[in-house]
Amino acid sequence: MSSKSTFKAITGAKCPQCHKGNLFSVPVYSFRNLSDVNKSCSVCGANFHAEPDFFYGAMYVSYAFSVALVITTMVVLNVLMDRPELWMYLTTVAVSNAILMPMMLRYSKVLYLYNVGKLKYRGY
Ligand SMILES: [Zn+2]
Repeated sequence: MSSKSTFKAITGAKCPQCHKGNLFSVPVYSFRNLSDVNKSCSVCGANFHAEPDFFYGAMYVSYAFSVALVITTMVVLNVLMDRPELWMYLTTVAVSNAILMPMMLRYSKVLYLYNVGKLKYRGY
């Protein structure tokens, strides 16, 4: 397994075991079921739900994404503007959060599955 292949599989939200099957059944910017993970891989049959509520822990990854977003927003605003006001922070965080929420929801689950899940790459 090359780390390049794993990186591609993570960014493409592919199955950890075969790097081919999709983890999600709908595109990222569809409004319904956008973060619903498929039950199993359509290519290799790997079970994505090792135990009930497996993806509950992805909430912590999602929280980390949110904190990173707030910090990034504050740093960027402070670099770009002389003395940004509170409403500027709040508006920028709210807008960027709304835009990036689907991505953060999905990639929190992808990263959680790749790091905590027991699925290992096998080729195919
Ligand atoms: Zn698979």
